[in-house]
Order: sequence, then C-alpha cells, then structure tokens
Amino acid sequence: MSGTFDEAGGRRAEPVQGAGIGTERPDVGTEFRLARRLLDLMPDGAFFADDRFTLAWTNPALGRVAGLPSFELVDACIDALFPEDDHEGRALEARNALATLGHWRGVIRRRDRRGAARGYELAVSALRDEAGRRWYAGHLRDLSSVDRARERLEYSASHDALTGLPNRELFSSGLETLISAPGRPCFAVALIDLDNFKRINTELSREDGDRILKAVAERLAAAVRSGDFLARSGGDEFSLIVRLERDQDGAEAASRILGAFSAPFEVAGKAVHARASMGLARFPEHGTDARTLMANADLALQASKDRGRSALNFYRPDIDLELRDRAFLEDNLRDALERSKLSVHYQPVIDVASGELVSVEALARWYHAGHGSISPERFIPVAESSGMIGELGEQVLRTACRQGGAWSCEGGPDLRVAFNVSPIQLKDPGFVDSLAAALLETGVNPSRLSIEITESTICDDLEDAARVLSRIKALGISISVDDFGTGYSSLAYIKNLPVDVVKIDREFIRDIETNERAFAIVESVVRLSHEMGIKVIAEGVENPTQFELLRNVGCDCAQGFLFSRALPASELEYLFFG
Ligand code: C2E
Ligand code: MG
Ligand code: MG
Repeated sequence: MSGTFDEAGGRRAEPVQGAGIGTERPDVGTEFRLARRLLDLMPDGAFFADDRFTLAWTNPALGRVAGLPSFELVDACIDALFPEDDHEGRALEARNALATLGHWRGVIRRRDRRGAARGYELAVSALRDEAGRRWYAGHLRDLSSVDRARERLEYSASHDALTGLPNRELFSSGLETLISAPGRPCFAVALIDLDNFKRINTELSREDGDRILKAVAERLAAAVRSGDFLARSGGDEFSLIVRLERDQDGAEAASRILGAFSAPFEVAGKAVHARASMGLARFPEHGTDARTLMANADLALQASKDRGRSALNFYRPDIDLELRDRAFLEDNLRDALERSKLSVHYQPVIDVASGELVSVEALARWYHAGHGSISPERFIPVAESSGMIGELGEQVLRTACRQGGAWSCEGGPDLRVAFNVSPIQLKDPGFVDSLAAALLETGVNPSRLSIEITESTICDDLEDAARVLSRIKALGISISVDDFGTGYSSLAYIKNLPVDVVKIDREFIRDIETNERAFAIVESVVRLSHEMGIKVIAEGVENPTQFELLRNVGCDCAQGFLFSRALPASELEYLFFG
C-alpha cells in the first residue's frame, strides 16, 4: 500500500481497497482544518517559524510546555525556546543545522516557571510552501514525565521495595566508589543477619515478618551515623558501611548498632524479640577490594552465627579454619545423634550440711572415634546453631529419665536428676509436650526431675519464660537457674517466676577465698534466695576451703571436682551407692 507524502512528511490516508465499505477521504481543505485542530489539541508544543526563525504560528500548548507566557511567543525568535544562557550555543547550532541540513533535533534543559530544571526534546524541520518560501515546523516535548518514569525505574532497580533502603547492587557500587575515593577512607563493612527470622516468619505471619523487617530497617537507620551507608542485601540480611576515625576499630560502632535489637519489636500487639548477628571486615586490612571485603565480612558473619545468639565478629585470617572445624563438628554430630552415639555422665550434687549425695546433673558426653572426647563447650553451640539441640536434648533427657527410674527401682537412693535445657529448646513451642511424653514413656516420677536454664534465657523474654516455666512446673518438674551471676545477676525477676534453685556460677566460687567481692556476692545470693524460698547450689567447688566458706554462709548444696567429676552411671553407682 503506497501513500502520498506532502512536504511536511504527512501521509494522506488511502481508501481501503476491497473492504466492503470504503473509508471516505477528506478533501484537502477538511484535512487541513483537521490537522490544525489536532495541533491545537496536542499536549506537546508545536509551531511554525518563518525563514528568519521568527515564530509565525504556535499551538496553545507551546507556551505551557515551554513555561513562557503566550505573549512572549508572539513574533519571538525560536531562540526563546532554548535556555536563556545558551543562545550562542545550542540555539546557534540548531539554526545552522536547519539552514544547511534542513532539520535539527536535540534535548535541551531549561527552567520552568517555578525555576525547576526540566528536560525537553526539540525537533525542527524545514519545508517549503507552493511559492517556494522556506518555513520551519517544530515540536517541543516535555521530557520530565519520561524523566520521572526513568527515575522511578532507576530507583526501584536500586532500592528494596519493602524497606526503601538501597539494595545489594547499589551497596556494591557505593562500596566500590568509596574504595576508589582519594585519601584512603577509613571504614568497615558490616553484614547483619537476623538470628531467628525464619521462626518469626513461621510463628507469626509473613506480613508480620515484613513489619519486623521494616522496623529493623528503621532502627538500624536510626543507629547509623551520617556518612554510613545502610542497605538491605536480601531476605533478613542488611549490609552497612561504617565510617571510622583513624583510631577506631569499629567494635564500639558495631555494638552500638547491634544495640538496636535489644528492645523487642511490637507486632500485632505482641512483643517479639528479633536478635541479630554481625560480621565485619575493615578496609584495607581485611581486603582492599569490594569483593574480598564482602566475602570476609560474610565469613565473620558465619562465625558469629555459629557462635549462636547476638554474636559479633571481625574477620580473622584463621576464621576459615574455625568454620571448617565447625562444619566438621556439625557433620559428625549429626551422625552421632542419628546413631545415638552420645552418652550421658552424671555429676554428683552434695548436701552441704549432711555431706550426702542428693542429686546429679546429667551432662552430655561425646566420644569421637578419631578425635577422642569432644567437650560440650564445643559441641553444644554447634548443636544450637544447626538445629540439632532439640534432638540432642531429647536423647539426654530420655537417657537421664530412664537412668533415674532405674536407680529408684533398683533400691538405690532416690536421686533427683537435673538436665540442661538450651534457650533454643525452651523457645520451641513443642518442648513442654515432648517433656510430658518423655515422662510418660519412661515412667519416671517428675518430682525427681529438674531442668537447668540460664539467666539469659529468662531475661530475653520474661513473659514468655514465665508462661513456659509455669507449664513445666505444672508437670511436677522443678526449675533451676544455671550459671547464676554470668548474666543479669538479678534475683528481682526470679521472684515472679516458679524457680526452685539457683546455681551460682563457678567463676564466683573460684574466687570466693581470695576475692572479698565474690564472697560478698555469694553470701548475699544465698541470703536473698533463702528469703524467697529458693535453694542454692554452688557450682565448681574444687577444694575444702571453698566448701567450708559455703557451709559458713549457709549454701544448701555443692557440686564440683572436690566431690567428683561427671561419671558414667556405673562408676557413680560404684563410688556413691556401693
Ligand atoms: P553447666 O550446666 O554449667 O555444667 C557444669 C559444667 O561445669 C560441666 O562442664 C562440669 O563438668 C563443669 N564442672 C563441674 N564441676 C567443676 C569444677 O569443680 N571445676 C570446673 N572447672 N568445672 C566443673 P561440661 O560437662 O563441660 O558442660 C559444659 C556446659 O555444657 C554445661 O554447663 C551446659 O551448659 C552444657 N551442657 C552439657 N550437657 C548439656 C546438655 O545435655 N544439654 C544442654 N543444653 N547443655 C549441656
Ligand atoms: Mg547445668
Ligand atoms: Mg552451670
């Protein structure tokens, strides 16, 4: 299908051939009027100028688009459409191009009536009328809506939609820019990852999870200093460039930022504790390029996650080795649990007044064929951070329950058996039910059992702890607070909880002979606990002097190498029941 072109480049519509009803073609006069009408309605500016570039006709939109009152356009030169300070530049270039080539097109920036800079596209073409006179037809288009759309597009490509923070890509390019900045800037890259976000997401709804992420972003943004650069690098991970002074190593800034997680988050009328781990790498000592810095901060983050809750680590050259060691422990521990290779040893707890054995603490033991015995100080954190602590605790609990039951059946002393419960187990909504099931299966008398939990477990979320502890207490099991003194060391909160026993950490017992403060603390813990009807066990008693001092302050029970290490059940029977 061919069309006929006039000088202005328009194509006249041809009648449609063979299409039943043919489209009627307007005559030239009608077509001209329609075209004029179209130009009047157009949102873009349109004009004709004569051969001296004087505007001869403009459509109503031109003044509005160009930000000029219409009277200023009457008989104006097309230069008026160019930025005022650019008449010798772009305007001259356009006139020269029009005079020689017959057309010009370019993007110009000029200020609108409010003084804001806007981008415009101006296109002008030459044409001749029947008399051979030269005219110029022009079209001025405001690009700001296009600019805005592009800006929006660029923004959404570089920012996270949920939190509005820069995304990973923008963070990387910011990091590269900073590294190549002159004068060796001082900074650290910090990666922050929420510890328990998966659980939050499953226990609450995804929407609540999103709310927490937004709140975390807000708190982090409030915790960083000006000049720092915060981004959400994905999921529950945030990245941060922390600007440092020459004499700073970043540790203070890092703990300040982690402090953003100390208070709970309010979601759906509930206080939710979201904790985070952090890994840091300093420029230039831990990496001189963006990739190395990020990779090393990530290794440090993994080390923090492995250590468990709310940890913070800087990159160290030997961190690789540690992570490999951990991976080894994790693989082997999984295997050991699957094949029930862990055993349980029992450490006696002695009544201070009578010297008699009153209870035992069940402690997990792992003997590895190639590596010998591996300490719980190493494998418990691995079990906690890899999701195996539930299974490990269950195995210890069942073994201990069976053993306790067996001792009382065989006519041995009716010993109370204590076992350790990790904070992670206590937060597991199925934990109390699994305790009840173990009681039922092993038939052990619950009054013979006690659980040991650390102070921090309780203080993390007092309300939650109170609820769970009451349910455990309702099963008939008693409750001890382990390692007392290493955390908040406050008996005030214990008052409102169903706690039966406080175990003073061995750090205090170690110093009790030499350090007056340690002695005073032990003495007041004993006194205050007794006032609340709570018994006290001293941990780590290693010599008779310590034992004597404990007897003097009225401590109820003692546990430690002075009496015995943790022993296999048979050795304990031999030494203590024999
Ligand atoms: P814990 O609950 O405070 O257990 C007491 C720890 O102190 C035991 O270390 C014990 O061997 C040690 N200890 C006892 N008397 C003395 C002493 O006189 N001097 C010294 N220096 N140490 C003494 P162990 O068996 O290495 O356990 C370490 C920690 O591992 C335990 O601390 C407990 O927090 C955790 N753990 C052990 N078994 C389990 C378990 O089955 N489940 C959980 N969740 N944690 C466990
Ligand atoms: Mg314990
Ligand atoms: Mg302890």
